[in-house]
Amino acid sequence: MSGRIVVTGGAGFLGSHLCEALLAAGKRVLCLDNHLTSSSANCAGFSSHPRFEFVACDVSEPIHVEGAVEGIYHLASAASPVDYQRYPIQTLKAGALGTYHTLGLARSKGARYLLASTSEVYGDPEVHPQPESYWGRVNPVGPRAVYDEAKRFAEALTVAYHRAHGIRTHIIRIFNTYGPRMRMGDGRVIPAFIQQALAGKPLTVHGEGKQSRSFCYVADLIDGMVRVMDSDHDGPINLGNPEEVTVEALARVILELTGSASRLAPAPRPEEDPERRRPDITLARQVLHWEPKVPLKTGLQKTIEWMRGAPVR
Ligand code: UDP
Repeated sequence: MSGRIVVTGGAGFLGSHLCEALLAAGKRVLCLDNHLTSSSANCAGFSSHPRFEFVACDVSEPIHVEGAVEGIYHLASAASPVDYQRYPIQTLKAGALGTYHTLGLARSKGARYLLASTSEVYGDPEVHPQPESYWGRVNPVGPRAVYDEAKRFAEALTVAYHRAHGIRTHIIRIFNTYGPRMRMGDGRVIPAFIQQALAGKPLTVHGEGKQSRSFCYVADLIDGMVRVMDSDHDGPINLGNPEEVTVEALARVILELTGSASRLAPAPRPEEDPERRRPDITLARQVLHWEPKVPLKTGLQKTIEWMRGAPVR
């Protein structure tokens, strides 16, 4: 692809890293964002780049873009459990109407389309690790439903546009990702633990801390995402790091890396918090020749370094 690329949610954590990577690859980038959970500070390092353009825009409203567009990455959504429970209707609208409007834009421009979906489509999984063929276990009226069902609808709509209108679509299922520019106050476990460790406060381990996640460093994730857009694979594809860790073990690694004397403090486990999560990335390895390269400790070091100087938002 050599033309202009639209990134919705381009001022968010993942979106801003994607914009930066696309600029570095020589693309023209149009970033659309309403700053509901993101910040212009994330784009500060490249906002004056001659090939970068920002338009304040809520993708749950119809979108108008002048001129040619070659590709659309639809990332716009609240993404942390704390954020999407704070903005339940906006989250459903970003996944449903935002996907509808961006698919319409892709159709009118003849652009390729990539939907940023999520491992949350698997819900609290009975199959472990999770392959793309697993249909998931999601409570449609549970506390996480606004995000999970929005993304499940978004996947169905993307596939429908592909089948009905023949547009080139891609769906990535993003597993837990971390790195610089995560908002400190977004409630996710890595920024929460790092912030607590640096402030010498107790680390709020939910429940017994035996639940697991698998954390992917942002640079690996963005590399995978761009490879998917450039591939011919149109079905859902998992992107994540299969290195699985319990929440308690994660807390201990963060204490070690920060040199913090904080203790672990048990905190109530959120309702319907998934027990285990780990991507099966066989498909990504085969189709994209991709796998994460950054080990957890290395990625955490970089994130801690960034968070030492980051604004508390
Ligand atoms: N968690 C925790 N303490 C916190 C924040 C999160 O123990 O301060 C746990 C949470 O209950 C879950 C895991 O860490 O089991 C990952 O949570 P996060 O919100 O980062 O992402 P999720 O994978 O649940 O979307």
